[in-house]
Amino acid sequence: MQQDWPTLKELATAVKNGSSSAIDLTHRALERVERQQKKYNATILTLKEAALKRAEAIDRAIAEGKDPGVLAGIPFIAKDNFLILNSETRAASNILSGFIAPYQASAINALERAGAVCVAKANMDAFAHGASTENSDFGVTKNPYDTSRVAGGSSGGSAASVALGLVPFALGTDTGGSIRQPAAFCGVVGLKPTYGLVSRNGVIAMGSSLDCIGPITSRVEDAALVLDVMSGRDELDSTTIEKDKLGYTNLEKLKLDKVKIGVISEYFEQGLDDEVKAKLLKLLKKLEAGGAKVSNVSLPSTKLALACYYIIAPAEVSSNLSRYDGIRYGYSDRDANDLEQTYLNSRGKGFGKEAKRRIIIGTFVLSSGYYDAYYKKAMTVRTKIINEFDAAFKDYDYLIGPVAPTTAFKIGEKSKDPLQMYLADVMTVAANLAGIPSISLPNGLDEKGLPIGVQLMAGRQNDRNLLLMAKMIEEVNSHA
Ligand code: GLN
Repeated sequence: MQQDWPTLKELATAVKNGSSSAIDLTHRALERVERQQKKYNATILTLKEAALKRAEAIDRAIAEGKDPGVLAGIPFIAKDNFLILNSETRAASNILSGFIAPYQASAINALERAGAVCVAKANMDAFAHGASTENSDFGVTKNPYDTSRVAGGSSGGSAASVALGLVPFALGTDTGGSIRQPAAFCGVVGLKPTYGLVSRNGVIAMGSSLDCIGPITSRVEDAALVLDVMSGRDELDSTTIEKDKLGYTNLEKLKLDKVKIGVISEYFEQGLDDEVKAKLLKLLKKLEAGGAKVSNVSLPSTKLALACYYIIAPAEVSSNLSRYDGIRYGYSDRDANDLEQTYLNSRGKGFGKEAKRRIIIGTFVLSSGYYDAYYKKAMTVRTKIINEFDAAFKDYDYLIGPVAPTTAFKIGEKSKDPLQMYLADVMTVAANLAGIPSISLPNGLDEKGLPIGVQLMAGRQNDRNLLLMAKMIEEVNSHA
């Protein structure tokens, strides 16, 4: 298996002009999904029947002379926290087992309107809590480059699906790095747009002030097209914003000599793997040689970002998970004799360890007596982080750094130690706290042959500019 899909644009053109068809592409994706299952466990549900039906409808529309859209017949995989009408949606957690989505996520609706076909649901850390997909009630997803290692998380299944070439693109969610980090571990492109640019309606909430939806693809151009289709105001999510007037496709070539890039110095201080660092420095040299002005910038509050995130995110998690009570959704314990026992047993048996840990931490930091000491303080730090990024983007067009301190780690290496696992997010959470767009791009391999990622950030609502520069990095890296 390999990433052998042409660009999304080429695929849609081929479907429309008859040199390919929606049904062919869907069959190809479904076969690949089936074939990888045992070895990689990237997906946890196949939507065969619905996908084939949809593909047939697209081919029929084309035969009738209609235009099925810019993603005509293109198969994709959605992370299991996206609601897909009439199909089981579990966010890879047992507590949601048997929950059939009564409506569909706005992002999925937008993709379907553009002609895309969802063929499967991707594995993930349950409720998107994690950085390795080990915290899934459906088993771990293996890294396509080395099956003894993790694919990253929490969108590990989505990133592995693209790296394995099951589909040309997948959807992930990113609350603290869950699109970017698995994309880096699997050698693909992962885009976390500006907060609010893609509707969260119909996506199982983790931390509502942090959650972002974005594409995982083989190339920047494809990520831009998927973003273009999904982005913009949605009356079903009051936090959504308008998309860029120019859209996110037709990316003109950026003149590197006009570009100022700040390298976040705090990300170089502790625990950064030598090879990840060396590859980043090499890339910076190439960008400089192309004319870009590269200099170090200090964002001192980013050192507090991880601690701040692990107060705010669990606070929001504890509130968002309170709706899973054994009454309304999914699993309900049948041995309980009364209402309270139903709540206790259903939540006690349905939630995994990590969800419980976050509920306890979140409830604690929000409780009276501790609210000021933890939650309020974390919110103050969050404002400081936002202000520091805003100030930095007055001087720099882009900020750059690693995605994660290391390449993909071994399965089991960190799963027993939550703090070690949380440290994997140290370079990604700040972008979520600040709400800025950030993209993870492949930046070569380490000596073990494992993918290394580079993270590029831009100011809020500068997603188009972010993609322009990402394209340049992709190009610079293509002639290594
Ligand atoms: N790894 C981070 C966490 O566990 C981020 C998860 C995410 O972005 N969904 O919270």
